[in-house]
Amino acid sequence: MDWLQKYPPENIVQKAYIFANKAHEGIERASGEPYINHCLAAAKSVMKWGLDDATIAAALLHDVVEDTNYTIANIEKEFGQEIAFLVNGLTKLEKIEYSGDKAQAENIRKTVLAFSEDLRVVFIKLADRLHNMQTLSFLSAERQNRIALETSEIYAPLAYRLGMQKLSGELEDLSFPYLHPKEYEWLFAAVEDQFNERQKYAESVKPIVEKKLKEHNISPIAIDSRAKRHSSLYKKLLRYEMDLGKIYDLVALRIILPNVADCYAALGIIHKFWPPLPNQFDDYIARPKPNGYRSLHTTVFCVDNKITEFQIRTQDMHEEAELGIAAHFAYSQIKHSRKEYESWKGVKNRKELLWVSQLREWQKNFTDPQKFLESLKVDFFKDRIFVITPKNEVIDLPLGATPIDFAYRIHSEIGDGCIGAKVNHKIVSLNYELRSGDLVEIMTQKGKKPSESWLEFVKTSLAQDHIKTALRAKHKILRKKTEEPPSVELKITTQDHSGFLKDLTQLLHQLKINIISLHTANNPKAPLPIILLKCDLLEQPRLEKLMVKIKQINGVKEISYKFNR
Ligand code: MN
Repeated sequence: MDWLQKYPPENIVQKAYIFANKAHEGIERASGEPYINHCLAAAKSVMKWGLDDATIAAALLHDVVEDTNYTIANIEKEFGQEIAFLVNGLTKLEKIEYSGDKAQAENIRKTVLAFSEDLRVVFIKLADRLHNMQTLSFLSAERQNRIALETSEIYAPLAYRLGMQKLSGELEDLSFPYLHPKEYEWLFAAVEDQFNERQKYAESVKPIVEKKLKEHNISPIAIDSRAKRHSSLYKKLLRYEMDLGKIYDLVALRIILPNVADCYAALGIIHKFWPPLPNQFDDYIARPKPNGYRSLHTTVFCVDNKITEFQIRTQDMHEEAELGIAAHFAYSQIKHSRKEYESWKGVKNRKELLWVSQLREWQKNFTDPQKFLESLKVDFFKDRIFVITPKNEVIDLPLGATPIDFAYRIHSEIGDGCIGAKVNHKIVSLNYELRSGDLVEIMTQKGKKPSESWLEFVKTSLAQDHIKTALRAKHKILRKKTEEPPSVELKITTQDHSGFLKDLTQLLHQLKINIISLHTANNPKAPLPIILLKCDLLEQPRLEKLMVKIKQINGVKEISYKFNR
């Protein structure tokens, strides 16, 4: 509670504390503690992550609507819209429950984000979950299991995705003994001796490393030894036949340096004195992990020929690794006006700007994006996007992926046969850049072959490989029959026959598309007239544009097309 005292009495954080304290008065946690302690713990976490006063106040109030007689209207009246919005977001999150079906986990994580609408809500939720996990021993075995599972499958990965590696690891470690009690016991017993031994060794190596660096004019800000977390150690052991001897990073040495050049220089020095193990070097500075993590990792035969891992990074990288997106949020608090925001943007590198623009896009789907944007920046979908299939499955794709990438990810036949795509029920061009949360449907046609032009915009190598293979096969066939020039044939069902033809020919003229033939299908059984249009073969984007334009003509019910080539 000491931290609370730094806020003056008229501050919103103090007011929130008084309000929450009164609202939860006389109520106890399962541990027997006053309920307000839970609210204080959550608020302290978000405060430590550098979040703003509104977030800290909302953390204090996060269970008021859910657990007491106060309503969101009461909160809004006392604390205003912003805090009420945050508290309401948390109340909504209470309704999300994870059934334990792993196939659904990604959907749930997305749902948490979508329900939150503002990442500050997610931060409070994570702080809430952290304290619930810390006090989990007081609950029934059944609830322990459910909450630990949800933490491990939903919230720890979410924290990881947000770049909050430390929190993610803490949540995993807290869940581990509940989810795997026997393994935990075994691990604890098995590791303890080895761990102590390696810790001692790491401590003895530290001054040697420091001396060598200093001899080369490199002054580390800090060198620490860091024990591998139980949960991640256990996961790694599963991949290495439970052989502790194969785990080289049980205790790793972490070197914090003033700048990137020093990081590479330090790496060179370490490799000069101690040979690296093959395939144990990772340059996450040049190629950051998808969640933004940056560091150099190398494993060497160190002093006494003992295998030792080094992690080398700058202070900034270190802070980011601990706090993730929250670190960027903390920076953003210095700016409140648009102008300050712009100048803040100016000093950041382009990669960070990319996050901002991505967030801008992503946030468009949610309420009040403006306010959110001006106070927060995220790299949540920095490298990956998540789109949804008509069967409600989540497909993970690289940023910039198109419907064609999506189609090939589902199945090579769907990719090859793709003739069009709908995003959120609207037809889009095949080079459309998909965004997280898009619902994507692929229209296919049997026997259709991919177009060479797709290679210009597809993002995944999976799609590229399939297209190239299919094209090679197609060219072989093409060489055999070259009688008819290639063309595309559209089949259009329309309500208003004559008016439509006029609009259509006008449109084709406008788009400078050469008509080969245009006639009405002779099908007396068809309930509506069907127009058959044959024209010169079009590049996919032009064809897509034509399709969209035709769709906009009054009375058009359906369009399909096929290629003759
Ligand atoms: Mn709570």
